Parts: sequence; structure tokens; C-alpha cells
Amino acid sequence: MTAPRISFEFFPPQSLEASFRLWDTVQVLAPMGPRFISVTYGAGGTTRDLTHEAVTTLHKTTGLPVAAHLTCVNATREETLNIANSYAEAGINQIVALRGDPPKGTGGFQQHPEGFADSCELISALADTGKFTLRVGAYPEKHPEATDHKADVEWLKRKLDAGATEALTQFFFEAETFLRFRDACADAGITAPIIPGILPIENWKGVKKFSTACGTSIPAWLDEAFDKAIRDGRQDLLATALCTELCDELLQEGVEDLHFYTLNRPELTRDVCHALGVTPQVKLENVA
Ligand code: FAD
Repeated sequence: MTAPRISFEFFPPQSLEASFRLWDTVQVLAPMGPRFISVTYGAGGTTRDLTHEAVTTLHKTTGLPVAAHLTCVNATREETLNIANSYAEAGINQIVALRGDPPKGTGGFQQHPEGFADSCELISALADTGKFTLRVGAYPEKHPEATDHKADVEWLKRKLDAGATEALTQFFFEAETFLRFRDACADAGITAPIIPGILPIENWKGVKKFSTACGTSIPAWLDEAFDKAIRDGRQDLLATALCTELCDELLQEGVEDLHFYTLNRPELTRDVCHALGVTPQVKLENVA
């Protein structure tokens, strides 16, 4: 089996300490030759400037293709397109285009009076500029706001038809969940790559809370396994083993790309990548 192509997602640091942590994480993961790295955009657009700074700094310092996440929340169309334009001017030509969520506890998505109504409008406007490779989000267990799985897949098709070329999925815990979704996408006539989002589990309590919020189901066996591993102090071992097994099952089913949610921590993602045969690519000039 050939090693997968990989990509890594980071969030923008909000303190000096967090900046150092991101830097250390990138130093460990960048040598593995990701296809791209991406930087999230805080809920409600709260990290607009920080995301911009992280994206442009990573673009300048790593030489890797960097994708900027961009949402429609809390901004006029003009403001959103200005952000995109400033990326293009800085030489950044990849965007993960999302509708986005408002800040926690402020209810559902509300269109800004002069803003984009939904992700399709944002994608079309960005595609019209002709400046970007566009990726979108996808939901193997359906988005919590979708009426049903079929409507959710149809909406994903509309997003891709609007000008996106790939979808990155929400995380999930069982390969079967992704494979069923991939089949449903194919049945709906989607031909663009659907890339599984992989979350190495750093902190089980936090992941459980996050899963509930975003509609990712937690199998009982996984909860029991982590309860026991935490009691025995070997949760990192379990996390690495389970994540590697999940990725391996996906690769056996023909998946070629994996998108890792790193949460700005390098260890588990690095260990899983190594186990899958993705190792640092040493530059010849460094060994000569
Ligand atoms: P959409 O897919 O446009 O909408 C979500 C669902 O609602 C759809 O699947 C569809 O079923 C339904 N829907 C919405 N509009 C319509 C419509 N007009 N007609 C019919 N159905 C509709 N959030 C952030 O704030 N910042 C980030 O950086 C970020 N990065 C993400 C990266 C990935 C890979 C993923 C999967 C999610 C990310 N999110 C991020 C979370 C995302 O913003 C939320 O899940 C948000 O609620 C939906 O955004 P979306 O673009 O996927 O929405």
C-alpha cells in the first residue's frame, strides 16, 4: 500500500506561547511534505486578523501551500472579498470556503444584512475571481442543521458545482461512517475528491464535548476504551493505535488523502503519519 498524501490543519495562535507551540508543531510536521496546510477562522470571524497573520507568516516561512479558511459570518460581502483579495495579493491562492458559525451561545447562523447568505454564494463569488483553489466542508454524519442525509449530500454537490474542487470532512470515529458517505456522494453524482478529516485524540474529555456539539457520534466501545486507558495512563498509546487503524482501514478502501486536525500539537499526528509510512523528506542539500 502506498503512503497517503496528507494535509494538516492548524488554528491561529492567540498568545506568544501559543505562537511558539504552533511554530514547534509546524517544524515537526512540515518535513513530512503535506500537500497543503490550512489555518482556521475563529467562530464568528473572531480571529480574522490572527488568521490572516498566521496564513501569511506560514506562507512566507514554510514555503508550503497554505489554505486560508474563510467564513461568511459577521461580515459584508465586500469585507469578505477584500480578505480574499489580500490573500491573492500575498500569493496565497487556496481557500477553505465555509458558511461558518456565530460565536458560541449566540444562536444559529444569521446572514449579515450586506453579507453572503450561505456558503454557495461565497464559493461562487470566490470562484468568479478566478484566483483560488477552493475547498469546502462535508459532513459524513450530516450537518446538525441538515434535514436529512440526502439533503446534506445534495447541498454538498451544490457547493462543489459552485466552484469548489474538493471537500474536507468533519471528523468521525469509524471508517464505515466515511465509506457510507463516500458512496452516497458518488450516488449523487459527486466526482470531486472527498477527503476524510482525521482527529488524533489528544484529550478524550474535550473531544467528547466537541463531538456532541458538531454531531459526530461516539461509539460506546470508544468511550469504554478511553475510560480504561485514562485510568491506566496510556491514552496517548490508545489514541495513536486507534487513529492509525482508522486511517489504515480508509487507505485499504482506496482513500488516497488524509486531512489531519492537529490542534497545534504535533506528536500524535506525527506518530500516526510515521506508522502509515509518511516520513520526513530529507532534502539532499541537508545530507550532502
Ligand atoms: P454549509 O455546508 O453551507 O451548511 C451546513 C449544512 O446546512 C449543509 O450541509 C446543509 O445541509 C444545510 N444548509 C445550509 N444552507 C443551506 C441552504 N441555503 N439550503 C439548504 N441547506 C442548507 N467553522 C469556522 O467558524 N471556522 C473554520 O475555520 C471552520 N473550518 C472548518 C473546516 C472543515 C473541514 C469543516 C468540516 C468545518 C469547519 N468549520 C469551521 C465549521 C463550519 O463553519 C460549520 O460546520 C458551519 O455550521 C457550516 O459551515 P459549512 O460551510 O460547512 O456550511
